[in-house]
Amino acid sequence: MADPLLEIDSITKRFGGFLALDRVSLRIRAGERLGLIGPNGSGKTTLINCVSGALPTDAGRILFEGRDVTRLPAHRRTRLGIVRSFQIPKPFASMTVLENLGIPLEYAGLARAHGAGAMEILTMIGLDAKAHLRPSGLTQIEMRKLELARAMAARPKLLISDEAMAGLSSAEVDDILAILFRLNEQGITIIMIEHIMRAVMRFSKRVVVLDAGNRIAEGTPAEIVRNPAVEKAYLGE
Ligand code: ADP
Ligand code: MG
Repeated sequence: MADPLLEIDSITKRFGGFLALDRVSLRIRAGERLGLIGPNGSGKTTLINCVSGALPTDAGRILFEGRDVTRLPAHRRTRLGIVRSFQIPKPFASMTVLENLGIPLEYAGLARAHGAGAMEILTMIGLDAKAHLRPSGLTQIEMRKLELARAMAARPKLLISDEAMAGLSSAEVDDILAILFRLNEQGITIIMIEHIMRAVMRFSKRVVVLDAGNRIAEGTPAEIVRNPAVEKAYLGE
């Protein structure tokens, strides 16, 4: 692969004596839509935490646009364009939806550069009518959209969406999928971690499968659904 946007090179992560990631490697090209799947506890969120800088790695390297970011703090990675959304949305309850978009910008030191435009992001995501409500006034899907809008506020090059669709209805899943497709069309590279197979298989051009901290498979959605090792990994679920 020529000039990957993100290159994860043999990352290892331990929690005490527990090996959560065992020399996992992954490359993603600019503009790609990659699905990252695996049974519960397989290490998906841990891998994302290592990429975003929320967790230090024990071994291996992470390169973004050819630059070694392995030891950079999370806010510096955000500034470079690595942005993730959280599995459990955690907006600030005392601020409005619109104000909530400013927080990640302050954190990344981007408020001056990107402070304007927050309302455009809410419009694009379909939350503009709720801009002046507090998060407590949002429905579950609107909370997920707020989480995506907060991620978008930092103008990511790479957006990592961690289970943005869990618990949503089928129509709501389609709604979030449409937003992610639109962001990808605007040039944003997307890693989708998702348990809803219909969604991840429709969205992804390529799928990587983790099981117990190991990368066990990679391929097109069609290849992954008929991969015996993947089926075996999911049997316990
Ligand atoms: P997934 O997102 O694929 O469901 P995780 O990455 O959250 O899995 O977790 C992978 C494994 O690492 C699980 O066994 C989990 O219990 C463990 N783990 C994750 N985070 C921590 C932590 N901060 N401390 C200890 N163990 C952790
Ligand atoms: Mg997870």
